[in-house]
Amino acid sequence: MRKELIDSMVETGLTGQSISSDQALQLESFTHEELDYLFIGTDRIRDQFKGDDVKICSIVNAKSGRCVEDCSFCGQSSSFKTDAPETELMSVEEMVAAAKEAEAFGANEFSIVTSGTKMDDRKELDQVIEAVRRIKAETNLETCCSLGLMELDHLKELKAAGLDRCHHNLETAASFFDKIVTTHTYEDEVKAVHNAKEAGLQVCVGGIFGMGETFSQRVELAFSIRELGTQSLPVNFLKPIDGTGLDHLETIEYYDALKTIALLRLVLPKIDLFVCGGREEVMTDQQEQLFSAGANGILGGNYLTTKGQDPKRDIEMIESLGLRPVGSGTQESASKS
Ligand code: SF4
Repeated sequence: MRKELIDSMVETGLTGQSISSDQALQLESFTHEELDYLFIGTDRIRDQFKGDDVKICSIVNAKSGRCVEDCSFCGQSSSFKTDAPETELMSVEEMVAAAKEAEAFGANEFSIVTSGTKMDDRKELDQVIEAVRRIKAETNLETCCSLGLMELDHLKELKAAGLDRCHHNLETAASFFDKIVTTHTYEDEVKAVHNAKEAGLQVCVGGIFGMGETFSQRVELAFSIRELGTQSLPVNFLKPIDGTGLDHLETIEYYDALKTIALLRLVLPKIDLFVCGGREEVMTDQQEQLFSAGANGILGGNYLTTKGQDPKRDIEMIESLGLRPVGSGTQESASKS
């Protein structure tokens, strides 16, 4: 067991600093025994910077399908024939109702997600802006939007309406990006993140793991996210969807998923680290371990085109670990409406 190496990584994490790239690469060869020992340390790092609080983010798929981009993991791309729904943008009322439902089950953050390269249709944008304004006024949720490769002026309008955060995944490492998406570039993704920062928004940037990338490409992505200086990081594990370009892949293995969470916690000790898509499929009935690997948040409720587990089960799991869902049963979570 490489106990000294692990202890040194954890000590670095506890100071709030990142482990080195060389150390991160060594995680790849860790045995299960070494990983189990590492998770005691990543749990300490999570506890040091996040305490008992667990954040629960919820999303609404406000506009689904018919996307001209060819992201090979995505059921909503028109490049693939899938069962993903195709819908127009939800009404303001529907988006607000979805937010209130999320707050009622214990979410503390709520994101409006739309398919497509970006949202630049004036009528649609106004609808999202109004929904953000109302959610901010009528709930205690933190507001987030994931609307694609957004322009600076539009992001500033959303910020003025009360938007707290913009979500925009890099999807994967720069060196693997063109194997996953060919209709836009990695640089386009980075620019969207810079636009959100320039608009004064907090930014949530992560990726999807298990798309055929190497472990060193996961390390590359982790350090790229660190360089961007963002506040939240959603970890998604590929759920291969029939008909998409990645439907031939298997889901990532359990320990590999936990190792990826630990890698991200060790490179970004202070970030809000959420486990999102693929949680139920990869972790099945051993989801508790994601917190000791270093996560301090989950995506609760349903995903974009697939169902998630019952939010009550999530709350029970979190509380059974002695942790506390931030939005559940707190003064702050009481609805304003
Ligand atoms: S991930 Fe977004 S941009 Fe890519 S195909 Fe799906 S909806 Fe379109």
